[in-house]
Amino acid sequence: MRAPESTEGLDGNAAAGVLSEMFAFEASRAEVVCGGCGAVAPIGRLAAYGLEMGAVLRCRECDTALLCVGVTGRTRSLVMRGAAVLRYRVGDSPSSLSRSRA
Ligand SMILES: [Zn+2]
Repeated sequence: MRAPESTEGLDGNAAAGVLSEMFAFEASRAEVVCGGCGAVAPIGRLAAYGLEMGAVLRCRECDTALLCVGVTGRTRSLVMRGAAVLRYRVGDSPSSLSRSRA
């Protein structure tokens, strides 16, 4: 049996590649699993509030705040405290979606 590769001494830069891939998807089609009740819904179907300086996206089943998106000048922030999981299918990138819509 092969020993697992050591990750000692690595920092967040080691995950930059997969994180770049993760944040290059069509967000409205990604699914969120609610940390409050376990409901699963695409981001595009969550209830949205306060769109002026960002958004709070809430679970339609239990009203838990799943995603809070902040917009301050050139800074963007994302709080996912209420979301248990954010998931998407590989290949659902914006470029592949625009091709499939054509
Ligand atoms: Zn919920």
